[in-house]
Amino acid sequence: MGRAVVGVAVTVAVATCAVAALVVGRRLRSRRKWNKVASVVRELEEGCDTSVGRLRQVVDAMAVEMHAGLASEGGSKLKMLLTFVDNLPNGTERGTYYALHLGGTNFRVLRVQLSGQPSSDLEHEVEVERQPIPEDVMTSTTEDLFDFIASSLKDFIAKEGDGLNISHDRRELGFTFSFPVKQMSVSSGILIKWTKGFSIRDLVGRDVAACLQEALTRKGLDVRVAALVNDTVGTLAVGHYHDPDTVAAIIIGTGTNACYLERIDAIIKCQGLLMTSGRMVVNMEWGNFWSSHLPRTSYDIDLDAESPNPNDQGFEKMISGMYLGDIVRRVILRMSLESDVLGPISPKLSTPFILRTPFMAAMHEDNSPDLREVARILNDIFEIPDVPLKARKIVVKVCDVVTRRAARLAAAGIVGILKKIGRDGSGGITGGRSRSDMKMRRTVVAIEGGLYSKYLLFREYLREALNEILGEDIAKHVILKVTEDGSGIGAALLAASYSS
Ligand code: ADP
Ligand code: MG
Repeated sequence: MGRAVVGVAVTVAVATCAVAALVVGRRLRSRRKWNKVASVVRELEEGCDTSVGRLRQVVDAMAVEMHAGLASEGGSKLKMLLTFVDNLPNGTERGTYYALHLGGTNFRVLRVQLSGQPSSDLEHEVEVERQPIPEDVMTSTTEDLFDFIASSLKDFIAKEGDGLNISHDRRELGFTFSFPVKQMSVSSGILIKWTKGFSIRDLVGRDVAACLQEALTRKGLDVRVAALVNDTVGTLAVGHYHDPDTVAAIIIGTGTNACYLERIDAIIKCQGLLMTSGRMVVNMEWGNFWSSHLPRTSYDIDLDAESPNPNDQGFEKMISGMYLGDIVRRVILRMSLESDVLGPISPKLSTPFILRTPFMAAMHEDNSPDLREVARILNDIFEIPDVPLKARKIVVKVCDVVTRRAARLAAAGIVGILKKIGRDGSGGITGGRSRSDMKMRRTVVAIEGGLYSKYLLFREYLREALNEILGEDIAKHVILKVTEDGSGIGAALLAASYSS
C-alpha cells in the first residue's frame, strides 16, 4: 500500500518535472528566437547610424564633392551638370505654353496659361493629364518612346476646347526629362545614362530634344521644343516663380536628385562661358553621390549587387522611394531566416521589389493599437498570416529605422548644398568668415516627389535632422516648400523664358 503511494508520488513528480522542463525548454527556445530577431534589428540600427556627428561628415563630403565636380569633368561622382539656365522665371512671363514630363512612374502632358502677373494660383491655370508609362515602352526603342510621347501630346491638343483662347502660332514646349543629360544649350542635350528602371539603349548618347522634335514633326505637330529640363530644374523654376528666395530644388520620389543656383565663377570647368546673369543652375545628379561616411549595411550591399546598375546611384539607393521598401523586405527576410517568429519562410520574401514603398509607409504609419494594417500588408504582400503583435511591432521598427536614415541623409545632402553656397550660417567652405559675422538670409528649398509629399514621417525626420545639423537659430531661416507638379509646370515656365 505504502509502496504504491510512493510509486504514484514519484510518477507524479517525474511527470511534473518533465512538464516543467518542457515549459522551460519552450520558453528558452522562444526567448532565443526573439533574441535572434532583436539582434537583427539592433544590428540594423547600428548599421544605419545617423548621429549628428556622422551627418555633419556627410554634409562636408557633399560640399567637397560639389567643388570637385565643378572643377573638372569627371572630377567627382557628382556630375554637376551645366543646364544653361541662367534666368529663372519671375512672373512676368505671358502666353500659353506646353510641357511634357517623362521620368518617373507617370508620364504627364501639361498646358499652362501665363498672364504676365505673378499669380499665386498658377496651379489653376494648369491643365494636366497623367498616364502610366507602358512597361514595354520603358525598354523599347527611341522611336517607340517618342512616338508614344508625341501621340499623347497630339491627343491632348486635339481635346482643347474652343473656349480656350489660344492663338494658332507655333506652340512652344518645355520637355522635362528626369535622367542625366549633358546639355549643349537650354534646348538640347544628350542622354548620359538611364536610371530608375528605364533602358532604351539606342537613346544613350543622342540628343533627346532633337529626337522629340523629330517625333513631333512626324505627327504633323507645329510645336517647338524650347527647353529641355531636368525635373529638379523645373521644380527650381516653379519655386523661384513663386518665391525669389528659392535657391535649390530637391526631388525625393521614385529617385532622388538636386539642383541649385551657382555663381558662374565657381563653375571652374566652364570658364569662359558668358552667361547673362552671372549665375547658372547646376544639376547635381546627387543620386550618384558617395562617401565612406554614409552608413551602409549588408542589405544595401546586396541590393546594390543585385541591381541592374551596381556601384551606381549609391545615395539614391539609400534614400529614394524605388528602394526603401526593398531594403525593408530584405531585413524581414533575414528575420524570417534567423527565427520562426514569422512562421515558415514565405517564398514571397525573396521576390525583389515586391514590397513597394507606399505599403511600407502604410505599415510604418499604422496607428491602430493592434497594428491591423501591418498584419494585413504582411498577409497580402508576403502571404504571411497571423503574425503575432510583438513581431508586427518589430516590422514597424524596421520601417522606422530605414526611413529615418533616408530622411536624415537627404537632410545632410541639403545642408551640403547650403554650405557650398554659404547659406548654412558658416560663410561657405571657401569663406573664412566666422559664424558671427554672417547674417543668415531667408533661404527657400523647393521639394517635389511622392516620398516627401505623401510620407509624413519621412518629412518630419528630414526637418528634424535639418534643425539638428544647422541648429535652430540658422534652421529657422531655411524654408522647405512642397511644389506639386512643379517639375512639369516649371518646364513650361522655362519654355516661356526661353521662347523664340
Ligand atoms: P516620380 O518620382 O515617379 O516622378 P512621384 O514624385 O509622384 O513620382 O513619386 C512617386 C514615388 O513616391 C513612388 O515611387 C513611391 O516610392 C513614393 N510614394 C508615393 N506615395 C507614397 C506614400 N504614400 N508613401 C511613401 N512613399 C510614397
Ligand atoms: Mg517626378
